[in-house]
Amino acid sequence: MNFSSSDIKHLLSTSDPQAVDALMEEACRLRDEVYGRRVFMRGLIEVSSHCRNNCFYCGLRRDVQCRRYRLGKEQILDCCRIGHELGFRTFVLQGGEDAWFTDERVCDIVSTIRSMFPDCAVTLSLGERSRESYAALRAAGADRYLLRHETADAAHYARLHPSEMSFDNRMRCLQDLRQLGFQVGAGFMVGSPYQTLDTILEDLEFIDRFRPEMVGIGPFIPASGTPFENHPAGSVELTVRLLAIIRIIHPHVLLPATSALGTLHPQGRERAIAAGANVVMPNLSPQDTRALYSIYNNKLATGSEAAESAADIRARLKAIGMDVPTDRGDYR
Ligand code: SAH
Ligand code: SF4
Repeated sequence: MNFSSSDIKHLLSTSDPQAVDALMEEACRLRDEVYGRRVFMRGLIEVSSHCRNNCFYCGLRRDVQCRRYRLGKEQILDCCRIGHELGFRTFVLQGGEDAWFTDERVCDIVSTIRSMFPDCAVTLSLGERSRESYAALRAAGADRYLLRHETADAAHYARLHPSEMSFDNRMRCLQDLRQLGFQVGAGFMVGSPYQTLDTILEDLEFIDRFRPEMVGIGPFIPASGTPFENHPAGSVELTVRLLAIIRIIHPHVLLPATSALGTLHPQGRERAIAAGANVVMPNLSPQDTRALYSIYNNKLATGSEAAESAADIRARLKAIGMDVPTDRGDYR
């Protein structure tokens, strides 16, 4: 890693504005060197709020009593049609671990999207599945898979998840996805319960070692009805500094400005871009289901987080000197 542990601890805690500015500048310089001053848009389609898992942090965990929904194939294709018109060339299908989304159904949806929109990439984010399942999804045409590692510290992992979930299986999934030729997204929440500077260092070492094509990080935000509902939200400042550090450790990474950051701070996205982020994922889900996909409280899905504001999003990014190409925005 091009930083020592003490460099990182210093960068995460310093109140010297010059040191922080230098960090941000270096991150942007590296992003611009690899990708140019460009931000890639992905259309996020939240396909299901049903989940068999019980992750302690998540508002969709199975023990939360809430109205649940899932989108069928035609609804998902409608979202893609709208998104394609708006200039999206990547569709991200994300959801809870919902048994309705069998391999057969997901493969059919993925291959239909790929044939209807041959110029688009399909990203899946449907949680942990078997290697055979991932292989089938890949063969059906899925290009990328987002599965945050959540924490690279096994003991920390065990405090965020019930014992039926395991760190080893999460790592197995990430390895399988990589070996099957997916562009893989890892990542973690900033300020999750029991996170320490040391576990963050382990996360950074993991990113340095595994070199995921994408890294999603955003602040933890409490979700009502979960064991962590009273835990404070993560820090916007820390998230932004970590984005910059991740860009410097891994200059080629595709790094989103996450909605969680946008939810906690009105300028969250702009701040992330100024820290070296180069992806935005506005919400392309049907309007009436957005509020039901309540992973955390007050999740933003309107205004600048809404895909129908694509023109406004482009204008805001242009205003800070970034171009927004109509292209798949693959890893390079
Ligand atoms: N079920 C899939 C995808 C949906 S959850 C999966 O778990 O991979 C997507 C991500 O949302 C999770 O990886 C987690 O990092 C994030 N998330 C869940 N609860 C959150 C919370 N309370 N605050 C911030 N992010 C959260
Ligand atoms: Fe389910 Fe994903 Fe939420 Fe865990 S984080 S409860 S797997 S939706």
